Formats: sequence, structure tokens, C-alpha cells
Amino acid sequence: MSNSVISHSQTVDISVVVPCYNEEEVLNEFHLRLTTALKTQSENYEVIYVSDGSEDNTDKILRRIVKDDKKKRLRFIKFSRNFGHQIAVSAGIEYAKGETVVLIDADLQDPPELIPEMFLKWKEGYSVVYCQRKMRTGESKFKLVTANWFYKILSYLTEINIPTNTGDFRLMDRKVVEVLKNMPEKDRFIRGMVAWIGFRQFALNYDRDKRFAGKSKYPLWKMTKLAMDGILSFSIKPLRLATLLGITSSFISLIGIFYALIMWFYGTPVVGWTLMFIAIMFFSGVQLISLGLIGEYMGRSYAESKGRPLYIIEDMQGF
Ligand code: UDP
Ligand code: MG
Repeated sequence: MSNSVISHSQTVDISVVVPCYNEEEVLNEFHLRLTTALKTQSENYEVIYVSDGSEDNTDKILRRIVKDDKKKRLRFIKFSRNFGHQIAVSAGIEYAKGETVVLIDADLQDPPELIPEMFLKWKEGYSVVYCQRKMRTGESKFKLVTANWFYKILSYLTEINIPTNTGDFRLMDRKVVEVLKNMPEKDRFIRGMVAWIGFRQFALNYDRDKRFAGKSKYPLWKMTKLAMDGILSFSIKPLRLATLLGITSSFISLIGIFYALIMWFYGTPVVGWTLMFIAIMFFSGVQLISLGLIGEYMGRSYAESKGRPLYIIEDMQGF
């Protein structure tokens, strides 16, 4: 596969990375709105579409879009299977050549028209311009409430300041991208990793739109995995909380022991197995939770130690 980029002398101002998983209903509209927005700021852009193991017509549509592109600014990466949104974004970042790299979802929840504004902020000297949601239309109450709680817990557990109400919709300078490329961790929470990297960051407020068409590709289990990655990749405090839980429950059991002794001393020993049953259930619960927690961290170290590649590319076009 040749590695040539557009015309060799020209530098790319903006690389846009678009993860796509079964997005046949939105891609044509998305592409039109994206390229229209990009043209207002620079002609030297590239768009990298990453098909994350799509099973619908996504690949077909993308291949056609890339093939029809006379100016050779569009690229297509196809994964061998579904690896997940954060991994798809990481692959796009790996191949992006731009001075700046923009991450954007394909479903038009992130308006492409904001990119010129982000680019101007970058020109002012910011290294990261991340978009922060003021309003979120078309999201379920459940999602809003859980997201809110998640960010509260995350900010309590982590030392670094991960901004609330942000997704991955952002623009990053080349130097941030280079650092990000050197972070090979498997369980990726990109918005956290970018916050961890630092540099001058700017929060751009926007109203998040509804999905243009199709259904969310983030079922609850994928969302839970992302939330776990966010917490476990950035904090070992949960382990300390497990210790704290152990200490507290031991303390409660001490009170129980004293109570039983005193009652026995006064000649009315505590009888019945209810209390015993409750105590056993309680302590087994505490132990299993703590064990599970340790297991989570161990499983993650195990996955890292295997050193497998993050993703497998089946095909590339436009590079
Ligand atoms: N996506 C992906 N792989 C996945 C799930 C999602 O590449 O396994 C892409 C999807 O095509 C979209 C973006 O990630 O461009 C965000 O997904 P979605 O809009 O479904 O998530 P939501 O906005 O509902 O959280
Ligand atoms: Mg979406």
C-alpha cells in the first residue's frame, strides 16, 4: 500500500477523523455538510473515514465517495470486525497527517459547521479545542441522568480534570496528536487521555443535535464499558474504596461482637440465625465486590501484557 499523501509538497491543515459503524442512513448528508463546512476554512483538508466493521452499506457508500474524490483528500479504512468507537478513532488519528486533527461522529449530533470556529481558536494558540454540550436534545432522560452521575463520580475519583459534558468532538494540535499516538493503552477513554496530556485547552459551547437518522450504535453495555474505562484507566481510588469498605464492615462486625458479649453477660444471649445469616451475606458481598474490583484491574493488566494490536485493518483506500 502506498503511503503518499495528496500532493507531496502540500501540508494538510485539518484532518477529520470519522468513526462509522453501520451509518448508511447518515453518511451522504454528513459528507455534504462536512465538506461544505471545511471549504470555508481551508482547501487543504483530508477526511479519514474508519468503518468499524460495518455490516450495512456503509463501506459501499464510503468507497464510492473516496473513489469519486478528484482532489485526493478522502481516505477510507476498513476494520476486519467491530472494534469499538474509541479504537476506530485511534486508528484514524494514527493515519492523520494534518497540522490539526478533528474527531467527529458521523451521525450529525456534532455539527460540522463548528469546525471552522474550532480552527480559528487553534490559530489563536490553543492546542485543544473541545466542544462542551450546553443542551442535549433527543437524548433519553436515562442517558442524561447517568451521564451526569458518571461525570460526578469521575471527577471525584480522578486527579486530572476531565471536563464534564464533553464527547470526543474536538480539534487537536499536531503535538497533542503525537503524544496521543505514543499512548498505546488498550482500554481507551480518549477525552480523558487528551485532558491528561494538558497544553492550552479551550472549551467551545454548543447545542448537541439529535441523531440525523438511524439508531444509536452505543447500547448500554458499550456505554458501561466506556464508563468503566474512564474510571479504571484514570484512577486506582476504587481499590482504596474497597479497603475502606472492608474496614467499615469489620468495624460494624466488632460492634456486633460487643453487643453479643454484653447480652450474654447479662444472661440474655442473642439467639436465632437471622443475624448470622445477614452478617454472612453482608461480608460475602463485601468480599466479592472487592475481589471483582481487583479482578477488573488485573484483567486490564493482562490484556495490556498480551500486547496485541489495537485493531486489524482489512482494507485501505485513498492513502
Ligand atoms: N461507532 C463506532 N463503533 C461502534 C459504535 C459507534 O465507530 O462500535 C461510531 C458511530 O458510527 C458514530 C459514533 O461512533 O459515528 C458515535 O456513536 P453513536 O452516535 O451511535 O453514539 P451515541 O451518540 O448514541 O452515544
Ligand atoms: Mg450519536
